[in-house]
Amino acid sequence: MEKLIILGAGPAGLTAGIYAARSGISPLIIERLYAGGQMANTPEIENYPGIPHADGVTLSEQMRAHAEGLGVRFRTLDASALTRTDGGFTLTTDEGELTARTVIAATGASKRKLGVPGEAKYAGRGVSYCATCDGSFFKGQACVVIGGGDAAAEDALYLAGVAGKVTLAYHESALRCERALIEQLKDAGVRMLLGVRVTEIYGSQAAEGVRFTDADGNTRTVEARGVFIAVGSAANSELLRGLLETDAAGRVKAGEDCATDVPGLYVAGDVSEKPLYQIVTACADGANAARQAAAFLRRTV
Ligand SMILES: Cc1cc2nc3c(=O)[nH]c(=O)nc-3n(C[C@H](O)[C@H](O)[C@H](O)COP(=O)(O)OP(=O)(O)OC[C@H]3O[C@@H](n4cnc5c(N)ncnc54)[C@H](O)[C@@H]3O)c2cc1C
Repeated sequence: MEKLIILGAGPAGLTAGIYAARSGISPLIIERLYAGGQMANTPEIENYPGIPHADGVTLSEQMRAHAEGLGVRFRTLDASALTRTDGGFTLTTDEGELTARTVIAATGASKRKLGVPGEAKYAGRGVSYCATCDGSFFKGQACVVIGGGDAAAEDALYLAGVAGKVTLAYHESALRCERALIEQLKDAGVRMLLGVRVTEIYGSQAAEGVRFTDADGNTRTVEARGVFIAVGSAANSELLRGLLETDAAGRVKAGEDCATDVPGLYVAGDVSEKPLYQIVTACADGANAARQAAAFLRRTV
């Protein structure tokens, strides 16, 4: 039986691995794809402290190498179920079962996509799912935010401060974000385009704008270098659902110590509810979760 299995090798899982290894545990990290998670898909990161310009692949490799250097073990496996068993947990993977006394679930989240032509083609070349991360690349340039909830409104407000003209486009006839945010959007000069559906993100080398249709079938075009899609995200928490409650987006509630209602099971990073989903907050969770797991292992020897 493993002392600690960490699910996911994003920044939360990798940091948990580093902290666990430094506590004297030799954790096993299970990852279905490659190290880094969402971070590995981010071409330019400008808000990781101490590294003003990082590319996500390099930062991911550095974190993985740091963990490996401390003795963290990695296996490429897809985990499909987690159950409680005597003295710990059983993890079902595509290559059989593993057991562990403690588990840190750091399985992250996936952004919801629009599924329109041009979205995938211009991802990272104008199309972004994270205004906090990428907004500053569009200084003085027109941007469109797609969505109508609080996150979309906050993205539009953030962009109004760092980019050029901002349009917030939503398919309903009224935004569903908080009333106070609507007032702030007006004050910030954000243009609202309501009752329109995205049909295409167009461009050449990079995104150049968005085409919409309105309820009467008319086509509307908005030129924009930045197209920010804020239509929600869902946590990768399917394998936790039998053990823990999740919110509508699949996120698990946990305190700053990352402990859950199940003794020995911790959640770290984007899979848990938090006010800000970023690399630094995921790393912070990873550190806290590993510390708690180490303390649990000491208490329950
Ligand atoms: C386009 C984009 C740009 C971003 N830019 C920035 C930025 O500039 N700065 C910043 O701070 N943040 C940025 N973020 C946010 C940041 O990347 C995330 O907040 C952070 O990666 C979350 O880390 P995590 O470890 O919790 O989860 P993730 O990074 O999502 O990693 C989770 C890992 O778990 C694995 N996994 C999931 N389920 C299973 C399973 N069942 N079995 C095995 N493995 C599994 C996944 O494959 C993945 O590798 C960006 C996000 C996106 C989408």
